[in-house]
Amino acid sequence: MYTSLVGKRSPKYRFDQSKQIALEALAVMGPDYISHVKDEFDHRWIDVVENRYKRSGGYSSGTYDTNPFILLNWKDNLDNLYTLVHETGHSMHSYYATHNQPYQYGDYSIFVAEIASTTNENILTDYLLEKFKDNSEMKRHILNYYLDGFKGTVFRQTQFAEFEQYIHDQDAKGQPLTANFMDDYYRQLNQKYYGDSVISDPQIGLEWSQIPHFYYNFYVYQYATGFAAASTLADNIVNGGQKSVEKYLNYLKAGSSETPINVMKKAGVDMTKPAYLEHAFQIFETRLDEFEKLF
Ligand SMILES: [Zn+2]
Repeated sequence: MYTSLVGKRSPKYRFDQSKQIALEALAVMGPDYISHVKDEFDHRWIDVVENRYKRSGGYSSGTYDTNPFILLNWKDNLDNLYTLVHETGHSMHSYYATHNQPYQYGDYSIFVAEIASTTNENILTDYLLEKFKDNSEMKRHILNYYLDGFKGTVFRQTQFAEFEQYIHDQDAKGQPLTANFMDDYYRQLNQKYYGDSVISDPQIGLEWSQIPHFYYNFYVYQYATGFAAASTLADNIVNGGQKSVEKYLNYLKAGSSETPINVMKKAGVDMTKPAYLEHAFQIFETRLDEFEKLF
């Protein structure tokens, strides 16, 4: 039997319960946003059940003149509840962009794509922490999920980005990118990021070779910047009221009609300055303190 650090049993949510929680959590986005989420839930925009030959994981995709579609492989757990609101964030972004922009601006760049999905995740975390404020086991699960997600998205992807930047620089200088060369640097970088608190096997140097994103060229950094921007946006929406929601919806509606930096500035995050990163780390620290108090 599996016993996790944070509690005896991980919380289980069926798909119908998860849709209800998602609607309650995302209600802060206002009635227009919620009406489209209801369309998604009620009009079969989601293929939810695992099936033979079906691709694993969760995705949102669509074309300019269709509604967005979501592919899921549902399991009754907290992780899948988060996947549902994450993919819903992408689908709503697509919906607002295609319904407010002409065809040529109806998509969005990689730089802003993961912001819509992780803003929803952050809103869900706020909602669940409030809902279970008197239930310490549930709070441990939710905080653990948040902290682990932050580590995986902000910290680890920054490490990946630093690795990627280095190997491209070395390549430009004429250094042959042999496997041994990359293993050595990856191992050093891992040491730098985890310090003395983690004892790593030497084989950690090979990890770069199993991460397909390194073949996409400068893809990983935007997970870290996106999640950090989403922390501020979710905070603004949950605590800032109608004005913040309107600014946020304008970002979803903008598609690729303006540069990503300008779109985000209008939404309330200046990604050319470090304040939004500091804010994200502040939230991380507050939640880490809360987590420690629960043990
Ligand atoms: Zn995503």
